[in-house]
Amino acid sequence: MRVLLIEDNVRLAGFIGKALGAAGFTTDHCDCAGDGEAALDTVRYDALVLDLGLPDDDGMNVLRRVRMHVAELPVLILTARDGVEDRVGGLNAGADDYLLKPFAMEELIARLNALMRRPGTTLGRELTIANLTFDSVGREVTVDDKVMPLTRREMSVLELLLRRAGRVVPKDVLADSVYGFDENFGANSIEVAVHRLRKRLQDSGARLEIHTLRGIGYMLVEPGDGLKKAAS
Ligand code: CA
Repeated sequence: MRVLLIEDNVRLAGFIGKALGAAGFTTDHCDCAGDGEAALDTVRYDALVLDLGLPDDDGMNVLRRVRMHVAELPVLILTARDGVEDRVGGLNAGADDYLLKPFAMEELIARLNALMRRPGTTLGRELTIANLTFDSVGREVTVDDKVMPLTRREMSVLELLLRRAGRVVPKDVLADSVYGFDENFGANSIEVAVHRLRKRLQDSGARLEIHTLRGIGYMLVEPGDGLKKAAS
């Protein structure tokens, strides 16, 4: 899951990026409204964490413009403003949640996870398909209750495929979600990650297959009698 953080306090942004990284998110950071909106124009994000006090514009204006284009993007506002008017204003302008500074990183992560599992966006904390369960908060994958070891990247690929199981996930959507701005990746990085993931699924006895749709993307399917999805 790829998150955009628009926050002009570079030190705070560093802490947030690190905490989100440890929780399994890929984070891009922009320190002003202009750069942030440019990033939103070019990348499909799974969530936006937005500071209100920015050097070049008010975060509330960013939020209004974002909402004109992408209605479904979960937005969490970070701010030191604690007035009721700001809170109501933020929610009216289309924020999904609000976190006052200073806050605990655990709380930010819990709120983000909650936003991303709202109906219509994603499934629950635990995704179970066939004999595989993905704990999206604890970042652990089990097959028949045995832990399947995965790298961070393989886990990100698997998470996105699971959240869209039975549907085609285009290759560029996978790449956007798994890699941040600062990461270098070769043209075949996603192929390599999917190849490894496929082997791990096979080795662990997971009753799931990753189908390749050449030139288009990938699809996770449960072989046999259709796809069963469960969220808890
Ligand atoms: Ca600020």
